[in-house]
Amino acid sequence: MAQIPASHSPSQTDPSDWKYVSEGGATIVFSYVGPAHPVFTGTVLRIRKVPVQPGADSAVPEGEPDEEEPDDPSIEFQNRITSLVVPLMHLPVMESVRVDREWLAKLSALVQNKRPELRRLKDTIDLGRKKAVIATDLVGGKGLAVEIKPKWAFLPNPTYLSEETKETKLRNCRFCMHAHEKQDSGETVATGYCPLDLFSGDEARVSKTVKDLWDAWVQSGGHINNLKIFVEGVLIQPSQASQLLAPVLGLPADTDINDLLAPFTKALLPLLVETKLLPVIGTLQRTLDAFDIEGLVRLWNLSLTNTGGDPTAVIASNTPQPTMDEWVSFVQEYLSTNAISGYALEDINSPETQKRLRYYMMAYLMSATFKDCSVILRLGSGLGDRITVIDLDPKKIEKLRTWEVQDSKIVRGFKESLQAGKVNIAPCNDAVFRV
Ligand SMILES: [Zn+2]
Repeated sequence: MAQIPASHSPSQTDPSDWKYVSEGGATIVFSYVGPAHPVFTGTVLRIRKVPVQPGADSAVPEGEPDEEEPDDPSIEFQNRITSLVVPLMHLPVMESVRVDREWLAKLSALVQNKRPELRRLKDTIDLGRKKAVIATDLVGGKGLAVEIKPKWAFLPNPTYLSEETKETKLRNCRFCMHAHEKQDSGETVATGYCPLDLFSGDEARVSKTVKDLWDAWVQSGGHINNLKIFVEGVLIQPSQASQLLAPVLGLPADTDINDLLAPFTKALLPLLVETKLLPVIGTLQRTLDAFDIEGLVRLWNLSLTNTGGDPTAVIASNTPQPTMDEWVSFVQEYLSTNAISGYALEDINSPETQKRLRYYMMAYLMSATFKDCSVILRLGSGLGDRITVIDLDPKKIEKLRTWEVQDSKIVRGFKESLQAGKVNIAPCNDAVFRV
């Protein structure tokens, strides 16, 4: 692990030099707004969070002073794995930096009232961390930045789908089914948006997705997580669009919000249609998820049965996490065999395929990473329009069981609602079944 120079320590800066940008489930992001700095200008700082445990803060032990904390796994995962499958021009530059408890505590106190209440109740900055990540600031500075969380780009390989789920899974894509379930349980979701359209490369369909995301953004007051709009580094809400978004689209401030969709679409469309990044993400998702979770679970069961294991064990039980070296071998094997073809041709009933169970489990995990990533479009910054993919962290192997349960729940619930006439949703474009 390379030594981190002292100049690369945000602890040497004033915590107020870092402005809250946004947060996901695991990390919170700040952008540097302090005086010109050779390392931090133009960067964001990403810090890990921990669940809130009332009264536990002061009890968190200080680490041993000379104990070396590894770099955040997201850095190594990008440097050694994802950079082999995603063109570098579409990845942010990432670097490890040192932080300390006192500085993190000050930053945490400063930011509390900027964070959404629901997040604040759930988690907080992990004060025990000695390292954080700085990365290219993709939303700060001049111009417009748009973050899209595209989600699942494909309909599953039908080969190993059960009779019970096949028609449903080939009628509507995973996102559209899941959105429906979330809406049913009262969540704010981008219903209407279908990732199959976004990934189609077809101008009319991509244009429709921009409209669908925009409509959901406006209707939800900016509270969907598939679209975020930043103007000069500030995350804006629909109520601010006339004032803040209109000028970066070349329109006078005070332009009616309904007149912003067309120029907004026009600004995004060339990048969304022409970029090689979306096809790369779509191909990775699809080829890495060769069997669907249903087929993978069957492969797990067959493999256990045929090797004398406990055939009732749920997927990934007693299974170690992939190491970074295993990920490197995995991605090399993937690139040499499966990167270009469509669905894998392997038969899960073959002992040869069953021997490769771990390969396919890791493949599914990596597919999930790309199903859960975000892309950021940067426009009008004066540096050329560009699109970058972020949030490519490795997933934990025990998530396979979570996804198996979730898949079954989503599909069965959606199927029942369809049959009962409780939902009225057309088949997605590209659907195999249109009943
Ligand atoms: Zn869909």
